[in-house]
Formats: sequence, C-alpha cells, structure tokens
Amino acid sequence: MASEASENVDIAIVGGGLVGSSLACALERSGLSVALIEAAETPQAPPGFDQRKLALAQRSISVLERLGVLPLLQAPPTPIRSIHVSRAGDFGRTLLKASDFGHSAFGAVVLAQDLGLALAKRVSGLQQTRRICPARVSACRFAAEGARLTLAGGDGEKHLTARLVVAADGTDSFIRSAAGIATRTHDYRQTLFVCSLRAEQASNGNAYERFSDQGPVALLPMADGVFGAICGVAGERAPEIAAMDDAAYAAYFQSRFGWRVGKIQATGKRTHYALKQVLAERLHAASVVLMGNAAQTIHPIGAQGFNLGLRDALSLARLLIADGLQAGTAEAYAASRLDDRSRTLAFSDGLARMTANTGLPAHLLRSLALATLGSAPKAAAGLVSGAMGYRGSSRFEEVL
Ligand SMILES: Cc1cc2nc3c(=O)[nH]c(=O)nc-3n(C[C@H](O)[C@H](O)[C@H](O)COP(=O)(O)OP(=O)(O)OC[C@H]3O[C@@H](n4cnc5c(N)ncnc54)[C@H](O)[C@@H]3O)c2cc1C
Repeated sequence: MASEASENVDIAIVGGGLVGSSLACALERSGLSVALIEAAETPQAPPGFDQRKLALAQRSISVLERLGVLPLLQAPPTPIRSIHVSRAGDFGRTLLKASDFGHSAFGAVVLAQDLGLALAKRVSGLQQTRRICPARVSACRFAAEGARLTLAGGDGEKHLTARLVVAADGTDSFIRSAAGIATRTHDYRQTLFVCSLRAEQASNGNAYERFSDQGPVALLPMADGVFGAICGVAGERAPEIAAMDDAAYAAYFQSRFGWRVGKIQATGKRTHYALKQVLAERLHAASVVLMGNAAQTIHPIGAQGFNLGLRDALSLARLLIADGLQAGTAEAYAASRLDDRSRTLAFSDGLARMTANTGLPAHLLRSLALATLGSAPKAAAGLVSGAMGYRGSSRFEEVL
C-alpha cells in the first residue's frame, strides 16, 4: 500500500516501554517480523524505566521467567509473603498471609528501571524483532489491509508499513488518537510520591497498605530490608510535599503511616506522579490494537497496571502464535480482553474511590469489608487470586 519505498513488517509495536518490550519478547516464537519503535534517546531510556517500585503478580513473575527476562534482572524480585491492610479511622484491618492460601508469595517487587533494562537486554537478542530507536511515529494512515507509519528519528524521516500496528505508546497514545479511538478520563486529583525507605523494622517480605482520606500509603518489601514507600496526597498539597527535605518527609510519612514498622530512619530520592484514569473506549480499529497504558491507565493503588498490560501482550501473542495474523485478529484480541479488563478496572477504580470516600456509610462498609476479609477465606481467596494475576485466559502461557 506504500506509494514510495518503505520497509515492511508484519507487526509494528509503537512504544518500547515495559508493555511493548514484553510483547516483542512474547512474539519471538510467532514467526512474524516485528518492528519495535521507541521515541526515547536509547532503548534503555524510556520514561517508564524509572524509580517506581512495581508489585508484580505471581503470574507475571512466572511469565517473565518464561520469556527469559527474569534472569537478566540485577536484583532478584523480592517476594511479598504477607499483606497488612488497614484504614486510618476505620476499625477493620486484615492480615493476608500467602501461606494461608497455599502459596509461598503473593507476588514480588521489582524496580521498574531494573525490569526495563532487563527487557531491553532481552529484546536486543531477539531474532524476529528490529528495534527502531530513537524514532517517534509522527503520522499514520490506517486501512483494512495494514497501516503506513511515518517515523521521525535521528536520521530524518522514514516510512514503515505494517499489517498490524500495536499501540503500546502510553497514556497520551498518538496511535490511539490517529485511529480515532476516544477516551474517558477521570482525574483523581491526587499525587503519588514514591521513594525507598529504611525503618526500624526490616521489610522481611511484609507489605503494608494503609488507606486514608488523603490517599493511600503503602510499603512494599525490597532487597536488604529496605521498603519501597508510596504516599498519595491531595493534588493541591503536592508542591509543598515535593519541597520537603528528607527528614521532614520521613516525619510526614510517619504521621500518615503510623508506627507499624517502628521509626522511619531514612528516605531516598523522591519522585511523584499526578494520577488520572484514562480508558480507551475500544481496543481496536482497522489494523490497530491498543494495549498497556494506551488501552487503560489506571490508579496504581491495586498494583494492576503493568500486570494487566502484560496480560494484554500475552493475549495478543497467544492469538498470533496459535492462529497466525488474520483479518479478524484485531477484533479477536479486543474480544479476548473484555472480561479481564473490566474486572481489573472495577477492582482498581473501586479500591481508589472507596478508600478515598469519607462519608459515614462508606466508612462503615469499609470497616466491615476489612473485618470480613480477615474472617472469610473464600472472599479473600477470590480477591487474592485476582490480585495474583489469575484473571483472563489461563491458557496464554502455553504458547510461550
Ligand atoms: C507510581 C506508580 C506505581 C505503579 N505501580 C505499579 C505496580 O505496583 N504494579 C503494576 O502492575 N503496575 C504499576 N504501575 C503501572 C505501570 O507502571 C504501568 O502500567 C506500565 O508502566 C505501563 O507501561 P506501558 O509500556 O504501557 O506504557 P509507558 O511506560 O508509558 O510506555 C510507552 C512508551 O511509548 C513511547 N512512545 C510514546 N509515544 C510514542 C511515539 N509516537 N512513537 C514512538 N514511541 C512512543 C514512550 O517513549 C514510552 O517509552 C504503577 C504506575 C505508577 C505511576
């Protein structure tokens, strides 16, 4: 369909972040030619390869192992063996132990930068994938039989034609808008601060999630007894919190989190993120599919964003490996994501809104829910298996 000389591939993945790179790895056995296009200066420098701490579901860990990514991490993932959930001002609280559900861990924590670098290394060894970086897709034309992309990069403008384009280009996806797919956006008016933290008690596999009217506060276990600390604040207070020195921030975090891990002794470099939910109204159009943050950017409170994006990638890889690239692949992919996506969104958004609601009925419901969770193994087991990533097709790993 190109009118002038351009390279042809079967699949063009736009965005070499965590999700696009994972998809490239998962497509290695598909026999299809793949281009992975990333706008960052180098394949090691996408903005998502940063200091955020990612809680990965157990299923994501085993998928990354199968993809050959896990052995390339600098620090092995730190297992989450228990999760302590509470809410400031509510009487319910619960302690979930992986061993009570027959597991050694609910999942594990990795640094996004470490995972990103491991993915970049793995992608560099893929036979079927050509990495094009730095290059930004600046225009695209879609048709039923494929798409024509214009790439602006270090050495000028290039063209690429692809039978299927995968939009893995993040929250403000250019591909999504070029394909005419609308979004629904919700601004949580919250900013999330992230840093490492050392406390009197070492992390020892324990995670803590504490909800409050001002936003969630969480500690995730990391290597060497350190915690990954997450603290949500109302958007208008963000500049004031960002300006605090480390000692003032440690005291502020202590006031929000309490004394469950003893005195907070030191906090590391802080980064922050304004939180909004952006949901694509459809996951496909002619010769294009959406995945990861381009498909849905969700509140990090439930630690589901990358886990869900990885399942997006696996669903598409499974279809392509099992049935090849066909006229109906984009529709089939979108249909395969409906159930997992809607249940994960309901879980994450429900958690974000419910835990921030200060009204009395919500307050009572929450207390009851937390108390019930602790004493109702069936309800807790359902929640836990969802949070461990066991939603969606149980068969996508078979093809990797
Ligand atoms: C504070 C925080 C904590 C989180 N914690 C968790 C957690 O515990 N567990 C979890 O599962 N998830 C978590 N998440 C969510 C997770 O980080 C994201 O879901 C995930 O990183 C999304 O990856 P992505 O590849 O879809 O998007 P992105 O990381 O946004 O990648 C998109 C890529 O596309 C590139 N790009 C954009 N436009 C173009 C273009 N036109 N041409 C070429 N390239 C382009 C960009 O440079 C970028 O590299 C957290 C998020 C935050 C903010």
